[in-house]
Amino acid sequence: LQKDINYVEDIFLNKIRGGNTIITNEKDLRDAIKRSGRRMRIIVRPANEDEVEDKDVYPRPAAKANDLKPRPPVVTVMGHVDHGKTTLLDALRKTNVVSQEFGGITQHIGAFSVSLENGKNVTFLDTPGHAAFTAMRERGASITDIVVLVVAADDGVMEQTLESIRMAKQANVPILVAINKIDAPNADIDRTKRMLVEAGIQVESMGGDIQAVPISALKQQNLDQLTEALVIQAELLNVMADPTGLVEAVIVESKVDIHRGKLCTVIVQRGILKKGSILLCGTTMAKVRTIKDAEGRIISEVSPGYPAELDGWKDLPSAGEVVLEVENEKQAKSALRAREAKKQIEKQMQDAEIISAKEQQHLREYREKLQHKRSLGRYKLKPEGPRKPEIEKVDGPPTLSVIVKCDVDGTLEAVLNILDTYNEPGCELDLVHYNVGAITESDIELAKTFKSIIYAFNVKCPERFEALAAENDVTIKHHNVIYKLVDDIKREINARLPTME
Ligand code: GDP
Repeated sequence: LQKDINYVEDIFLNKIRGGNTIITNEKDLRDAIKRSGRRMRIIVRPANEDEVEDKDVYPRPAAKANDLKPRPPVVTVMGHVDHGKTTLLDALRKTNVVSQEFGGITQHIGAFSVSLENGKNVTFLDTPGHAAFTAMRERGASITDIVVLVVAADDGVMEQTLESIRMAKQANVPILVAINKIDAPNADIDRTKRMLVEAGIQVESMGGDIQAVPISALKQQNLDQLTEALVIQAELLNVMADPTGLVEAVIVESKVDIHRGKLCTVIVQRGILKKGSILLCGTTMAKVRTIKDAEGRIISEVSPGYPAELDGWKDLPSAGEVVLEVENEKQAKSALRAREAKKQIEKQMQDAEIISAKEQQHLREYREKLQHKRSLGRYKLKPEGPRKPEIEKVDGPPTLSVIVKCDVDGTLEAVLNILDTYNEPGCELDLVHYNVGAITESDIELAKTFKSIIYAFNVKCPERFEALAAENDVTIKHHNVIYKLVDDIKREINARLPTME
């Protein structure tokens, strides 16, 4: 044991005692090792000043109403395969007045923003379908404000349409319907609407309040009507964000570019993202070097509700992860260390949990085995809690009645394993009760009732209980070596065997 080991966490003890055991000196450490036996897991950390100061960063408290400003809604396009999701997204990108004005070439970065004639904007996630939505949801990110449900007017509602409806409803995201392919020869808008109502989507013209905009993504018909409907919906939903203070964002997509390195697209949720911002995401960070929009233009800042592609990442974050801006690199590094440490502890906790679950399983199986033996009449065994005296009296061979108390499950199991091999027809072994932990008053009462010997393995008995035991003629035998405990039991059995005439 080194002198500088002064911060020890014993996960095993955490598990069985349900509390934190932080050990700061050698004596306590030795005691803990003794108590927990061979199955102890220890994490040792130096109590180094810098490390103790490592602090994680978290999203700021919710913004004040005064700081909230309208922002573009973030829209996910969903629907059945081949109903026109990709065609719609491509068409929307092309109609974007910004890309027309600047002659930019759109590229796939995972999201893009459309500027409408009226100066309003709508942001689309351009990975259509369930995968993107599910990936985001799995990571708990809720960046979608509205789902555009694309339903082809010739096909109507299909299997994946229903699935999309279910997912949007589950995520509590409002739906706006785009009835697509109205140019197709066998398009039937009314039939499609009737099918939607049947699927639980109460469209506007059928007495409900869900907008259904008939469009042709291929012929680029009514697309402005669709985007305007989205803006109106966003206003109704009061889609707002706080553009002040440190940035909060969500990763939409990430990739490695051979020329530009690690890139990812974010949608900003709070604050204004600028070049030079220090960002933290999971266990990686970035000092933002370049910010680009979906047209590939370098931009200087990004406001809430808008997507942008960033470089400068140390490691690649994954889609759905939350990005938080920090004041400086020192803070970012300290938070990363804190997150790494937390991750390690979680990993070890998981490992310990798996092992402990295995041990529990072992013990359960063992108890079942003993139960089974009891039903075969070999033991009168009562493993689940103390037995009531009235069922006790059995005539027959002499009996050694025992109660076993052990320090940990492992030793209890070992002792029970040995008792399991007991095979002496001349004397019955009656295991009245067993468990892990110190001797209690009820153990003594039980021993008194059943005339049992209490075998205590590595467990203490408070002085007053020793006295109580003596008063009641109850013998408590302490052991800390298993074979000695077993020898003791054998001696007791021999003493009870009928003597040969
Ligand atoms: P996705 O699987 O939902 O992404 O569907 P796509 O966008 O790939 O479209 C599937 C097919 O439908 C393609 O052949 C498109 O050209 C066609 N399509 C998409 N929109 C329209 C439309 O408005 N009218 C017609 N007639 N065909 C369309």
